[in-house]
Amino acid sequence: LNRRLTLIRYPVEHQHKSLQAWDSADELLIEHLSADTTHPDIGKYIIFNDDFGALGCWFAHHAPYWVSDSLIAHRSLKQNLEANELKDSGVHLLTSLAPLPADPDVILIKIPRTLALLEQQLIALRSVVKSSTRIIAAAKIKSITRSVQQLFEKYLGPTNTSLAKKKSRLLFCDIDAAALSQPVTSPYPSKWDMRCKTGQIVQVSNHANVFSRQSLDIGARLMIEHMQVDNQDSIIDLGCGNGALGLNALSIAPQAHVTFVDESYMALESAKENVLHNFPAQYNQCEFIASNCLESLLEHPRHSAVTKVVCNPPFHQQNVITDHIAWQMFSDAKAMLASGGHLIVVANRHLDYHNKLKRLYGGVKVLASDKKFVILSAAKR
Ligand code: SAM
Repeated sequence: LNRRLTLIRYPVEHQHKSLQAWDSADELLIEHLSADTTHPDIGKYIIFNDDFGALGCWFAHHAPYWVSDSLIAHRSLKQNLEANELKDSGVHLLTSLAPLPADPDVILIKIPRTLALLEQQLIALRSVVKSSTRIIAAAKIKSITRSVQQLFEKYLGPTNTSLAKKKSRLLFCDIDAAALSQPVTSPYPSKWDMRCKTGQIVQVSNHANVFSRQSLDIGARLMIEHMQVDNQDSIIDLGCGNGALGLNALSIAPQAHVTFVDESYMALESAKENVLHNFPAQYNQCEFIASNCLESLLEHPRHSAVTKVVCNPPFHQQNVITDHIAWQMFSDAKAMLASGGHLIVVANRHLDYHNKLKRLYGGVKVLASDKKFVILSAAKR
């Protein structure tokens, strides 16, 4: 255990200094594996949902397959590998939609915030594990619930938990041939119909880790009812999730150019599938870009000037409630917009984005509101 790593959360310049890039569940997992001489020292490792790459770095010498739905996690891991001179250790980075390698020996899982993502990962593991595969999951005590344990038991086999230590707990699952032989149909992607402002009904498909995957978010609903876009617009759906806002824009203005942006690979893939399914003729005027806020777009000069950014901002990162992402989204939007263009934001009233936008843009208008939400519009001068 006598090793030292230097770890950051990507992007370093926007993070609160007090937030570290690992947690006590990571430490517990590392301590357990270091003390346990029965786990294979060589063999195929898969690591799931490592928030900022702490596990990827610690176990880099196993050249693990490292699976995450988050572009921010991927970028964190890459920077952390580099900073600790582990860049050439052969860690295989996979997005959440990539096929898993066959016959893994050890699987390490950080329990994700969205249990649907865990469920989808356990279902995917059923077709690659062997009877000797060892599965160890880790999380804060409050996240290792009875329903988490039941998911492991339903899809893979008998599951026990460790005693709690440092506010975290481990979970051990044994592969059981009987559990694997039960037929299973994945509930993901989940699908439902959405009514656009025009009255058009579109089908919205959601991969497991997509925000509001079971029904339309009520904030998004208000934004949809009040959206004003036209065919000349070049629009960015920032933090697009399943693409609900951008799909509504295409329904109102079928010639508009729409760029869907999210840091979740499952979100972006869902948005892409939803445009292809509902607006196949518009597919070529749409783009789908994985990015932390608008970083990836700001790195490359664009042909067309952005006239509108529509945004239902996130208010947490993994398990931490934060407004630093909303801030970066608002200032990136300002950098992207053509002068005279607008950022349109839907937000819970209590979040006071009004003042933030006023400070950044110099003015802000309330376009609509209900008991819980406001739609704010800020113009780039
Ligand atoms: N627009 C969708 C809707 O209204 O249903 C989703 C809105 S949800 C509140 C916020 C979205 O922002 C999520 O899809 C999340 O994955 C994405 N997100 C979170 N952090 C991000 C970041 N740093 N950069 C880009 N997207 C991010």
